[in-house]
Amino acid sequence: MKIELITIGDELLLGFTIDTNAAHLARALADIGVQIERRTTVGDTAEEIGAAVREALDRTGAVITTGGLGPTSDDLTKASIATLFGRGMRFDEEHWAWMAERWRTRFQREIPEANRQQAMIPDGATKLRNNHGSAPGIWLEDERGRWVAMLPGVPREMRGMLADTLLPMLRERVTGDRVVRSRTLRTTGVPESLIAERVGAIDGGVGDVALAYLPNVDGVDLRVTVRGASSAEADRRLDGAVRRLRDAFPREIYGEGDADLAAVVLELCRARGLRLAVGESCTGGMLGARVTRIPGSSDVFVGGVIAYANEIKTSLLGVAADLIRAHGAVSEEVARAMASGARARTGAEIGVGITGIAGPDGGTPEKPVGTVWIAADVRGDARAALLHSWGDREEVRQRAAQAALNLVRRMLAGD
Ligand code: AMP
Ligand code: MG
Repeated sequence: MKIELITIGDELLLGFTIDTNAAHLARALADIGVQIERRTTVGDTAEEIGAAVREALDRTGAVITTGGLGPTSDDLTKASIATLFGRGMRFDEEHWAWMAERWRTRFQREIPEANRQQAMIPDGATKLRNNHGSAPGIWLEDERGRWVAMLPGVPREMRGMLADTLLPMLRERVTGDRVVRSRTLRTTGVPESLIAERVGAIDGGVGDVALAYLPNVDGVDLRVTVRGASSAEADRRLDGAVRRLRDAFPREIYGEGDADLAAVVLELCRARGLRLAVGESCTGGMLGARVTRIPGSSDVFVGGVIAYANEIKTSLLGVAADLIRAHGAVSEEVARAMASGARARTGAEIGVGITGIAGPDGGTPEKPVGTVWIAADVRGDARAALLHSWGDREEVRQRAAQAALNLVRRMLAGD
């Protein structure tokens, strides 16, 4: 089945809101074998909405919209699509009563009259239940079987309605057992071009799948996709491709799907009974934040020092002032001393040190912006690595935290 998607809202066109609904819908629909063939964004005007839906219906006969179902004057979706279908609007007493009750129990107050608009639905429409908000979704279908499903704009409500109501409806309409299915392998520390080179050298290739390289600040994700195959066939092809890629990148792939390297490292530490401490300069606590974002990190992560000023590197991490004077704060020697200091001062088995120049100022010809030294000390066995990072300050910091995690991962994996 092919569907067109129309996301509605001035804020999307102006760029103030990122169209996350489109991405979420595309992924969720692919899972049941439905492809979004084209997507359009229009502003909050009845003419634009009507025109976009009419054109999309002419092409595919199946349209999903998000947005414009709210109670305010800029919420025009239902009325303009009803007009397109030649339907009037009626006040749905049942929905109004449900909304009023919801306001009373949830918000302890009477529902504002302005919300009456949300209980207006096109003649002959089916309501799609909203368990997460007050606007109902709408399903409108004409005599020829062409349909429009209208979902709310608020992402949480849209996702809830999609999962609870629309996906089950569409699943019944999908004929046959054709899926669009993907798997993603996450790599870090290797540039995209080198990955492509090595993929190109895989004997026999990765098989009958589409391979996408998705670079991001944490590394390069490799996504393989199969379209239009049966579920079993798609899985078989994806399994084969994943196996070949894992063989080609045994060290570089740290996880699958939305795996977080911090969680991977925590798990490695936990399995070995090792505790982790950090000494962070240019990342300013980012590494600690990434680790503590993972639920259950407390049995591994003990804490650390944000040693931004040299005096703090000395007084709290025990980095000798002479060492800093001799080599500079951004140096292999200092990174190693920070890692060992973090370990020594906390009693953890693993210490990590990060020191670098995040920019935009502070670079020199010998140590340009993006120069970062990271070090890890695992029970006295220490290793350091130099990172030549790029991008803005935030990216340099993010890459530093990721590289530090990767250094620990590789040491624990015995690389
Ligand atoms: P609406 O249902 O049009 O009143 O939208 C309510 C809110 O949902 C808007 O203020 C946006 O913040 C958000 N929103 C609407 N459409 C989208 C979209 N396509 N992606 C992400 N957020 C959206
Ligand atoms: Mg809106």
